[in-house]
Amino acid sequence: MEYEVVIGLETHIQLNTQTKIFCSCKADSWNETPNTNICPVCTGMPGVLPVLNKAVVEKGVLLAAAMHSEIPPVSYFDRKNYFYPDLPKGFQISQFDCSLAKGGYLDVLMPAVGQATAYVRRVGIHKLHLEEDAGKTKNAPATFVGQARRLIDFNRCGVPLVEMVTEPDLRSAAEAAEYLTRLRQLLRWIGVSEADMEKAHLRCDANVSIRPVGAEYLNTKTEIKNVNSIEAVRTAIEKEVERQKKEYDAGRKILSWTLEWDEDAQTLKKMRSKETEADYRYFREPDLLPVYMSEAWKTEILADFPELPLERKARFLSVFGLPEYDADILTTERALSDYFENAVRAYDGDPKRVSNWLLNDVLRLLNENGLTLTGLKLTPVYLAEIIRLVDAGTINTNTGKTLLEKVNSSGHSPRQIVENEGLAKVSDDSAIRAAAQAILTENAAETESYKSGKATLMGWFVGQVMRRMGGKADAQKARAILEELLN
Ligand SMILES: [Zn+2]
Repeated sequence: MEYEVVIGLETHIQLNTQTKIFCSCKADSWNETPNTNICPVCTGMPGVLPVLNKAVVEKGVLLAAAMHSEIPPVSYFDRKNYFYPDLPKGFQISQFDCSLAKGGYLDVLMPAVGQATAYVRRVGIHKLHLEEDAGKTKNAPATFVGQARRLIDFNRCGVPLVEMVTEPDLRSAAEAAEYLTRLRQLLRWIGVSEADMEKAHLRCDANVSIRPVGAEYLNTKTEIKNVNSIEAVRTAIEKEVERQKKEYDAGRKILSWTLEWDEDAQTLKKMRSKETEADYRYFREPDLLPVYMSEAWKTEILADFPELPLERKARFLSVFGLPEYDADILTTERALSDYFENAVRAYDGDPKRVSNWLLNDVLRLLNENGLTLTGLKLTPVYLAEIIRLVDAGTINTNTGKTLLEKVNSSGHSPRQIVENEGLAKVSDDSAIRAAAQAILTENAAETESYKSGKATLMGWFVGQVMRRMGGKADAQKARAILEELLN
């Protein structure tokens, strides 16, 4: 039997606001001492009242717009009632039937692999709403004497989340991984979340089922939880698909299990047989007003809405004529693509040339020094100036590359550094000729072996001349003069 894989992803996205959703505690308390970032509101003390954080709504609207969702003029918060130790109020404030956004989609460009051509998978958004996070429980450390205990950390209570659930539109583990990669890129691009999976800013559960190819119905699905990297999502789904195939092939049924990914063992463990949909007794949150999203507010939020990565990539291909590879890397981060555009504007020449310098040399400078593009002293305008100095023949390429670092450490303009340090290329024949003559005289043995046929030594001779002249000689001229002298 040939099977088709059907996957839907449920993601929880932590919004990067300063404060929590309903109180003024700091929102991000990653790695902080447990229960230090809490107050009566987020720990659900009796009699307290929640106050909605406006920034949470605004970031939610930005995300909804990026997902092409409809944003209704009014939305409500609801209580989702359930009892769990990490939920001190006994209910979670969430959104149910009238949420911040409706519908929407994310287009995921699947790259060409081997024989398969590239294609776009449109992933529908089933649900997009705001809610508060719950706390965290963990086993007490071994030093804790007495019977086994669980400890509770309430720091995460009230951290603002967007829960976003896709339609079951994904057809492979690779598509699920690509969806998450693109979602993470998008969240950072529009500035609503750091989207760091290791810090739980982006959490993902996967619903997986398979069905005979061509079937329209949905088979029983299993839910995979606790996957905290994109690679783990891919591997866990692959393993679960294999397991389901074996079960069906052996004539057995798939049961509606919840599975937990064990990162260390790289295996899935059965957590529990999934109960039927719990009755959460949703009802409107009586302590919060409806959220009225006026056209004026929406316009204000979306005033600086950026061009999105896929659109920008398409423009880099069509307007700048860049190769796919370059356009792809340049649009991984918004800061990088902005830097590129500014440098192209300042350079006013072939964009591919700017892309080469940026992707090879500037990125290396960043990596080697642990820097980021923001606050770099080597501005896009200075990068353009360096490339123009090379183009004009004022300096050679190597000098240009050393200039990147010099500009970045000093903040001075490339032209100024070239003047101050006398880095301009030496094209003066007599100076190069004198240096070449000296090199040949000092290296009689090499000169002899070149003459007896070892032509590959030419590169070495050129290198020696360049070195003697502090790297400033015109390398082509040096080669011509050396050839003339030797022949
Ligand atoms: Zn609080």
